[in-house]
Amino acid sequence: MGVDAIHPGYGFLSENAQFAQQVKEAGITFIGPSPNAIELMGSKLAAKAAVAQYNIPMVPGTEYAITDLEEAKVIATNIGFPILIKASAGGGGKGMRVVERVTEFEEQMQLAVSEATSAFGNGAVFIEKYIGSPRHIEIQVLGDTHGNIVHLFERECSIQRRHQKVIEEAPSAVLTPELRAQMGRCAVDVAKACDYVGAGTVEFLLDENLNFFFLEMNTRLQVEHPVTEQITGLDLVKEQIKIAQGAPLSFSQKDLSINGHALELRVYAEDPTNNFLPDIGTLTTYKRPQGLGVRVDDGFEEGMEIPIYYDPMIAKLVTFGKDRQDAIDKMIRAIDEYQITGIETTLPFGRFVMEHEAFRSGNFDTKFIQRYFQDPSVLKPAPSQEEAEIAAVLAALFAGQTKETSTSTTPATPTSAMSDWRKNRLK
Ligand code: ADP
Ligand code: ADP
Ligand code: MG
Repeated sequence: MGVDAIHPGYGFLSENAQFAQQVKEAGITFIGPSPNAIELMGSKLAAKAAVAQYNIPMVPGTEYAITDLEEAKVIATNIGFPILIKASAGGGGKGMRVVERVTEFEEQMQLAVSEATSAFGNGAVFIEKYIGSPRHIEIQVLGDTHGNIVHLFERECSIQRRHQKVIEEAPSAVLTPELRAQMGRCAVDVAKACDYVGAGTVEFLLDENLNFFFLEMNTRLQVEHPVTEQITGLDLVKEQIKIAQGAPLSFSQKDLSINGHALELRVYAEDPTNNFLPDIGTLTTYKRPQGLGVRVDDGFEEGMEIPIYYDPMIAKLVTFGKDRQDAIDKMIRAIDEYQITGIETTLPFGRFVMEHEAFRSGNFDTKFIQRYFQDPSVLKPAPSQEEAEIAAVLAALFAGQTKETSTSTTPATPTSAMSDWRKNRLK
């Protein structure tokens, strides 16, 4: 029907090897890597095996799916608790269980296998050492069909809930140029290990001592790709299309540099004061922020419904500034300008993070929410002038009422007094 190529976006189809294969067989160009690369990197275990020939640091753990429970317990004990049981086919932060002690191992293992089977249709699970205070740092790569592969620096994605990102930035506040170059080289090697073509992301954990460990590769454009576009000046989707057309990369590694700082807040229809539970409903008000250095990628308009399917992501709010502080200031201003009513969103949480000392200093990790956001009432907005006045009137009334009850026969009820007060105010 005149279709030359299909761009799968960053949804489920982008990581579906069978879909990529069928597109290819239909004589249509799939804008993305080969079905083989998708398949290989879709399995965390196969990915680890594929990159083993390169000198890439891995999180200590098993290199194969666990089949023998007793053997697994011995391995876990040797690694040292806590450990993580992970689904090989897992994704989107799902299919992971932390095990604190050996006595819980068997039960958690059974739960992990049954979850992996029902969620991903594949019950293979493995063990990883649970890194206590990691940062999630990932490297964007681009490969063409002529064997050239470059990296486009890192994205810091440590502000997460349920092992899934909410705030991302580029560059990271803690990477030195040397570490950046070293992690970049490793990411390029991971891409080489699967003859990677197109845009992809190699994810790492970075511990407190700045040791990094390979986690997995995502064989698609990522939700947070705009921050990389902002600091490199490259349009990643345009690059994907050019690569799919067979064009060689128009730049080499040495042509690339970081310019400025970018932040992204995922605006989810979730209630941050209620464990980030999805909040569905109608976007009664929806007004985007504007201005220099503010970018909103979204797919909704005022009056639309937020459905219950998939992640309830409404928009990605991206700000770009000359440095980190500038990007943070712009983010706060943009959050304040963004008007969304009808549903709860992650906007107030984003503001909380932007103002938090740990975030501002750059001294944070994936435990940010656990450490600093245990009391979500901090998000409750300060009372408005009117609310403060109402509270003062009510307090005065109640105080008067208790004093007067013995003398007055018809004490003013707080509600009638309230409406009088409102009427007076409107005069
Ligand atoms: P990323 O790893 O790019 O940061 P997430 O972890 O938020 O993205 O989501 C992982 C993946 O889960 C998405 O890229 C996509 O493949 C799938 N996914 C999540 N939500 C949706 C959705 N609403 N529609 C389609 N696919 C989705
Ligand atoms: P997914 O496929 O769901 O994206 P990842 O392996 O990329 O799975 O891990 C997602 C997140 O889970 C990481 O960003 C990190 O916060 C946490 N995580 C994963 N592995 C470990 C580990 N070994 N130790 C501590 N945290 C981990
Ligand atoms: Mg991941």
